[in-house]
Amino acid sequence: NSRRDHTFSAGCLDPYAYQEQPGYQRQNATFVMLTRNQELSGVLSSMYSVERHFNQWFQYPYVFLNDEEFSEEFIAQVRAATHADVEFGVLSELEWEFPTEVREQLVFKHSIEDQGDRGIMYGNMESYHKMCRFYSGAFFKHPLVSRHEWYWRIEPDVEFFCDVTYDPFWEMQRRGKKYGFTVLIKELYWTVPNLFRYTRSFIRQNKVKVGDLWDLFVDNYNVAAGDELLNKLANHEWEVERELMDRVEIEHLLETSQYTSAEDVDEELVRTLVSRAKRKPPVIEDKFDNEEYNLCHFWSNFEIARVDLFSTGLYASYFEFLEQSGGFWAERWGDAPVHSLGLGMMLDARDVHYFRDIGYQHSTLAHCPANKRGGQLPYVENPDYATIFGKKRSAYARLGRLGRARSSEQTYGTGC
Ligand code: GDP
Ligand code: MN
Repeated sequence: NSRRDHTFSAGCLDPYAYQEQPGYQRQNATFVMLTRNQELSGVLSSMYSVERHFNQWFQYPYVFLNDEEFSEEFIAQVRAATHADVEFGVLSELEWEFPTEVREQLVFKHSIEDQGDRGIMYGNMESYHKMCRFYSGAFFKHPLVSRHEWYWRIEPDVEFFCDVTYDPFWEMQRRGKKYGFTVLIKELYWTVPNLFRYTRSFIRQNKVKVGDLWDLFVDNYNVAAGDELLNKLANHEWEVERELMDRVEIEHLLETSQYTSAEDVDEELVRTLVSRAKRKPPVIEDKFDNEEYNLCHFWSNFEIARVDLFSTGLYASYFEFLEQSGGFWAERWGDAPVHSLGLGMMLDARDVHYFRDIGYQHSTLAHCPANKRGGQLPYVENPDYATIFGKKRSAYARLGRLGRARSSEQTYGTGC
């Protein structure tokens, strides 16, 4: 069944034998990292992890990008950390800086300062805004990146915990996958208050027919039946006991939420639904549609994806539209929600791969596949996963569930 997104491989393979299998094709792919000279130790630590767990066998090249020249020391140490090819690029002013007419407006600096005053995470760092804008709309145009078909984004201070003994690029290629992630989390609301409004506007103006991945990123409010239940939950301050829910309501929940089995209708769900029902939805320009961004996004410091996802077609005009709106400085739109909403428009769930077998950590968030009892690798044929894909559910049900911790894996910080 092509809808099923199984892990690409079960357990460890011999990476050399793997590459000799008939039909194997090394891909035109590269690692990409935007970074600064002073982050060298974090860069090296990420590279050691990448090399140790994957690239010592596959030798994919690296591209390092910076808004300033890389120092000789940086270049020498990075080269020494791998046998693979490494290239260093400096961003042009056009790629890195906001357009002059934007920078010259008084409101530009004020707005960024004001975001600091309002306690928006990284809101007062102009460089962070530039970084987000660069990853949203420019990295894929850089000549060192655009000549590749695939990229694997990494950052300083990321860690991989599991050996990846297959070639994720080739596996994605042969299975028609376009975008791969390890962690799905929620964005901080105040960094993107108007992103969804502009996104909806773009969709309407361009009459975009969204793919079914879109459902992963939106909550449908006002679905009459769902609302009724939510109100009921809110009014009754639901006693947190599953037994109290009668069968019909559980069925109903299963239809209107991402939960797929009665066992899942637990305390956490009830609490979520109560708080959701109490929350006032923000004012949305087009009141006639019931969609609200649920703030979920693929955590973009890890991405394995096709470059042309971003460089061709709809995404480029989506970015242009967002750029015109000013949200990369008037708000602090992250590249992660921008990528996710862009992909949500363009892709179907089956185009996306969840690398549930890749243990990954950055800062305090991690995704960790744990071995199941009995020593059997959990991600070979995850029964939960099969059930999800076997049932007719929304894409949100299918993919939203992927980001949740299961008995066979642990994902910290995943609120989707
Ligand atoms: P966080 O993970 O969201 O806290 O963001 P980071 O500070 O790690 O930034 C994301 C990526 O962009 C990292 O690879 C950084 O090295 C890089 N980065 C962030 N700001 C700058 C900058 O001003 N210049 C350069 N060259 N790279 C940057
Ligand atoms: Mn980081």
